[in-house]
Amino acid sequence: MSKLDKISQFLPIRFRNGDRIQQFAKKCPHCDKTVSATHMFGIAANINERVLLAAQAECPHCQFRFPVTCVITAQKRVLRVALPLWLYRMYIQMLSRSGQKTPPPENASHQATAEVAPSSAISMEQVTTAVETLGSYLDKPIFAWIRRNGLIYDFERVCANPATEQLADDECLLEAGLVYKRRAAD
Ligand SMILES: [Zn+2]
Repeated sequence: MSKLDKISQFLPIRFRNGDRIQQFAKKCPHCDKTVSATHMFGIAANINERVLLAAQAECPHCQFRFPVTCVITAQKRVLRVALPLWLYRMYIQMLSRSGQKTPPPENASHQATAEVAPSSAISMEQVTTAVETLGSYLDKPIFAWIRRNGLIYDFERVCANPATEQLADDECLLEAGLVYKRRAAD
């Protein structure tokens, strides 16, 4: 954990609408005082006009440590992400790396609403889902596995931009932006 960057070093993060996030702070769940981004360690990145943030916060007042996992929209809404910190941090690292290789076009968000979903995207009604969830992503539950056409698919990853997501042959994409991988036969 000691090698991680301070979240304040990632700020400010700019959105295309001209807004930017300059400060970020959370209340310490232990002493209720404010913990600023200079006391959070992890990663923050703008992925398709959403800031994904995964950090370990250490309260400077009482030294209490707590994870901060959230998505901040261009409208400055903060959505909680109920994934384990290490897993969410890995996603952000992966997404920010792939985002650098192929930056989305300027009007990507407009295209996404006009385009139909890619043929590989399947809706919730087409699948049976596990009862157990691993957490949530953008307020949608992440099911541990789904059943589709008699085959079981296990949760693999989230994708920030379902319209352009590249899928392997044994993967399928659920409409919420969740990628599942077909479970190998025993
Ligand atoms: Zn505290």
